[in-house]
Amino acid sequence: MIPYGRQAISKQDIDAVIETLQSDFLTQGPQVPKFERAVAQRVGADHAIAVNSATSALHVAVSALGLEQGDLLWTSPITFVASANCARYVGADVDFVDIDPDTFNMSPRALAKKLEVAKAIGRLPKVIIPVHMAGQSAPMREISALAKPLGIRILEDASHAIGGSYAGHPVGACRYSDISVFSFHPVKIITTAEGGMAVTNNSDLADKMAMLRSHGITRDPGLMTHEPEGPWYYQQIDLGWNYRLTELQAALGLSQLGRLEEFVERRNALANRYDKLLAKLPLSLPGRQAQTYSSFHLYIVRLKDSDANRRGEIFQMLREAGIGVNLHYIPVHLQPYYRALGFEHGDFPVAENYYGRAISIPLYPDLSDEDQQRVVQVLSSALAA
Ligand SMILES: *Cc1c(COP(=O)(O)O)cnc(C)c1O
Repeated sequence: MIPYGRQAISKQDIDAVIETLQSDFLTQGPQVPKFERAVAQRVGADHAIAVNSATSALHVAVSALGLEQGDLLWTSPITFVASANCARYVGADVDFVDIDPDTFNMSPRALAKKLEVAKAIGRLPKVIIPVHMAGQSAPMREISALAKPLGIRILEDASHAIGGSYAGHPVGACRYSDISVFSFHPVKIITTAEGGMAVTNNSDLADKMAMLRSHGITRDPGLMTHEPEGPWYYQQIDLGWNYRLTELQAALGLSQLGRLEEFVERRNALANRYDKLLAKLPLSLPGRQAQTYSSFHLYIVRLKDSDANRRGEIFQMLREAGIGVNLHYIPVHLQPYYRALGFEHGDFPVAENYYGRAISIPLYPDLSDEDQQRVVQVLSSALAA
């Protein structure tokens, strides 16, 4: 089976993990802060907080932004469920903003309209989470221009997008947001097996997230209610969790980060080659936005409307031929958990239409030219069948 995505692990990655395994620290040692500094520097953010998943990063981020019961968070319906679930963890409500059919990202036009209504009824979101779908940045300038004047905080779910750039800056520079979050799950751009990172230019948010990642505990006397009672002393001043990344994971992440450029270049080369090889097939191919360099986490093709009723069949034919296609994503509002909260079919028609036609085909740095050719052959015969 040619999978839709997979990690690329080198001898150097393996050596880095083994070396850390033999060192004094398996957790809470020097590798995590080193990895944090390296990511912060690479993406042009002032602070980085490593955690054990992007889901945890989203949780500490919304908590640091003060999202709580009674508040509202908006995100895109075309994302992994974690982008919405983080609001539910803190008891806040979730709503969605429909996507742009060309980019699969949150539509600024839909956002503008929804904000007008929300303003009129006095129910504005406290936080908006744009998702950089497939590795292509959402239109952050437009989203920020709409949301900032209303006092809405912006959290970028950049789980797909480390190594990409937007308007001349790396994704994660947080030029148009408060916090950005990355995932290091094995199918993402770089991996720590499980792992995530929140980056920000705001030192208060960084301190808060760092504390929440580790039980809400501080060793900073300046934050304590009274003088430390001795060198052993710490205080728990908030309710946090154990969301720490291990030293082994950080060592792997650091080693992987060294090849980020190479990974993203290879992904782009493969994507450009797909563009050429698939150009004559009855498919809509992923567009490229001006000002945006995608990290190409996913290569998503869409069937034409005339083939939409054949999606299941075509998907099955590809799977049976050993092509590990996938679907990103089932619109979150259609998940039973969210339907039980009142969402229905028809709520976000652009997202639902996209869902009916999308297929993610294999894309990862070690995908060989021959395997890519095979994907194209199987896909074209499935379309012609
Ligand atoms: C993968 C992913 C997440 C969750 O990442 P984990 O590290 O697995 O928790 C969140 N949002 C999006 C858009 C993702 O693709």
